[in-house]
Amino acid sequence: MNEAMTEKETNEIREEKKSLNFIEQIVEEDLKSGKHKEIITRFPPEPNGYLHIGHAKSIILNFGLGEKYNGKTNLRFDDTNPVKEDVEYADSILEDVKWLGYKWHGEVRYASDYFEQLYEWAIKLIKDGYAYVDDQSGEEISATRGTPLQPGKESPFRNRSVEENLDLFERMRKGEFKDGEKVLRAKIDMSSPNMHMRDPVMYRIKHAEHHRTGNKWCIYPMYDFTHGQSDYIEGITHSICTLEFENHRPLYDWFLDRIYEEGKTRPRQIEFARLNLSYTVMSKRKLLKLVENGYVSGWDDPRMPTISGLRRRGYTPESLKIFAEKVGVAKRENIIDVGLLEYSVREHLNKTAQRLMTVLDPLKVTITNYPEDKEEMLPAVNNPEDESAGTREVPFSGTLYIEREDFREEANRKFFRLKPGGEVRLRYAYFIKCNEVIKDENGNITELLCTYDPLSKGGKSPDGRKVKGTLHWVSAKHAVDVDVRLYDRLFSDETPDGHKDKDFTEFINPESLSVLKNCKSEPFIKNAVPGDRFQFERKGYFCVDKDSSKDKIIINRTVALRDSRSKKNG
Ligand code: ATP
Ligand code: MG
Repeated sequence: MNEAMTEKETNEIREEKKSLNFIEQIVEEDLKSGKHKEIITRFPPEPNGYLHIGHAKSIILNFGLGEKYNGKTNLRFDDTNPVKEDVEYADSILEDVKWLGYKWHGEVRYASDYFEQLYEWAIKLIKDGYAYVDDQSGEEISATRGTPLQPGKESPFRNRSVEENLDLFERMRKGEFKDGEKVLRAKIDMSSPNMHMRDPVMYRIKHAEHHRTGNKWCIYPMYDFTHGQSDYIEGITHSICTLEFENHRPLYDWFLDRIYEEGKTRPRQIEFARLNLSYTVMSKRKLLKLVENGYVSGWDDPRMPTISGLRRRGYTPESLKIFAEKVGVAKRENIIDVGLLEYSVREHLNKTAQRLMTVLDPLKVTITNYPEDKEEMLPAVNNPEDESAGTREVPFSGTLYIEREDFREEANRKFFRLKPGGEVRLRYAYFIKCNEVIKDENGNITELLCTYDPLSKGGKSPDGRKVKGTLHWVSAKHAVDVDVRLYDRLFSDETPDGHKDKDFTEFINPESLSVLKNCKSEPFIKNAVPGDRFQFERKGYFCVDKDSSKDKIIINRTVALRDSRSKKNG
C-alpha cells in the first residue's frame, strides 16, 4: 500500500477508471466513501410480456453491477396491476434471467407483497395532511391537471379533514365504492412545473382479482406510489431505471421524504438511456401485436428481438453481454445499429462454434477418376480458434455436392471458384478440376464431371502449384438432409415505429423468412439437438431449432459470416 506505484501501474488504474461507465463511477464512490458497505440493485419487470433485448441490457447492467462489486441483485415482479395472472410471462422472465447466467438474491419478490405496507404509508400520509380522497372522476382529474405551461386547478375535495379522508380511504378499502368513484391523491402542488407533482393519484379502486392477492384488495396502489417504496423496503442502494423516469424522481423523493426512517438505506435513482435498435421495434405492446396478428410465429420467433427469440435464433448469453459492453451506458437517447448485435454474436460464435460443412444449394459433382466403391475418412478441424475442440472425420467419395453458386460456366479471371477447365481445392480433401458440364433439356446445369488429383490429399498441393479457391462439399451418399431457415430483418425501415402517419406494421419485410429444403450436411449433424450451434463453413452461424426432430432436422441461420450489407455482392 505504502510503496510508490510504478508508472505502468498508475496508468493501468487510470485506464480502468476511464473505462468505468458513469453508474459504475457512482457505485465506486459510494463504496469508497463508506456510504454503502454493500450495494443492492434490482431488476423490476412487469410480467405483461416477454423480455426483449432492451431488458437484457438492463438485466446485464443490474446483475453485472451486483457481480462486479460483490453485491446483490433482486428480481422483483412489478405486479401492481391486478390483471389476470400471466404465468407464461412470469415463467419466461425467470427463464430468460437464468439463461443469461444470473442468480437473483433470495426469493423472487413481488411488489404485491408490499401492499399492506404501502397501505399503512398511505394512512400515514393522510394523517400528516399529505394525501386526500378525491371524488372527481378520472376525466375531471385529467381535465384539471393543466398543461406544462398552465397551472392545474385544485380539486374541490382537496381540503377535506384528516378524519374524513381516513374514513373514506378505509371505506374505499372495504369495497363501499365502485371503480372510479374515488381515488386517493397526494397533496403536493397543482401549479408545479413538473406535471407528476400535481397531486398525483396514489390509489385507485379496482374490483378485480389479483393473481397473487386474490380478492383481498379492491384498491390498488399506482406504480408511482409503489416503485420507489419497494426499492426502499428491499434496501436497494442504486435504483437504476430508464430516462423516462427522470421526471418521476422528484415525486419518488417526495414520498420517501415522508416515510423515511433514520438509519435505513435510501435508494438513489439513476437514469440511463433505454436501448433502441435500428430496424427493430422494442415495446412489449408492439411485440404483442406482432404475435397476436400472426406476423411472427410467437414471442420466440427467431426474428423477434425478444431474449427467447434471440436464444432460438442461436444467440448466446455471452454474445448479449459482449453487445451490452459495446453499447455502453448512455445518458442520452440514441439508436444502436442492429449490425452491432450481429457483430457481437459472430465474435462469440467464431471462438466457440463447431465447424461443419453443409451445402445449402446442392450441385452434384462426380469425380470420374475416383474408384467407384471407394470411400475414405478425412480429418477436419472442429474449430481453428480452439485447438482443444480437436478434429473429426468427414467421409469422402466419388459423388459429392458443392454449392451451386460456387460454379460458373462463364467466369472472369477474378472468379476463383470452380469453372470449366479450372481447378479448386475441396476443403480437407483434394484438388479437383472440372472437365465437363452436364445440363438438362432446359439448359440447367445438373452435374459436373471432374477429376481429382490423388496426390493432393488433405488439400495440399503436391508440386507447389497453386489453386486460389477452396470450396466446402458433402459426400452425396453420406449427406444428411436438413431444412435451413434463413432470416432477414423483420422490418425494412430503419425506424419502423418512428413514422407519425404510418403504423410500424406497414414496414414489415415480407421476405424476412426463407426456407431452404433438403440442404446437404455432413453426418456429424445427425446427433445435433435443439440449441446446438455450428458454423457452416463459408455460410454463417447456425442453430438447431426447437421444431427439429430426428426425422427432420431444422436449422436457423443465426447470422451470416460477414455483414453482407456493407459489401452487397460479396
Ligand atoms: P417496454 O416499454 O418495452 O414495453 P417496459 O419498460 O414497460 O418495456 P418493464 O417490465 O417495466 O418494461 O421493464 C423492466 C425494466 O427494464 C425497467 O427497469 C426498464 O427500465 C428496463 N427496460 C425496459 N426497456 C428497456 C430498454 N429498451 N433498454 C433498457 N432498459 C429497458
Ligand atoms: Mg413499464
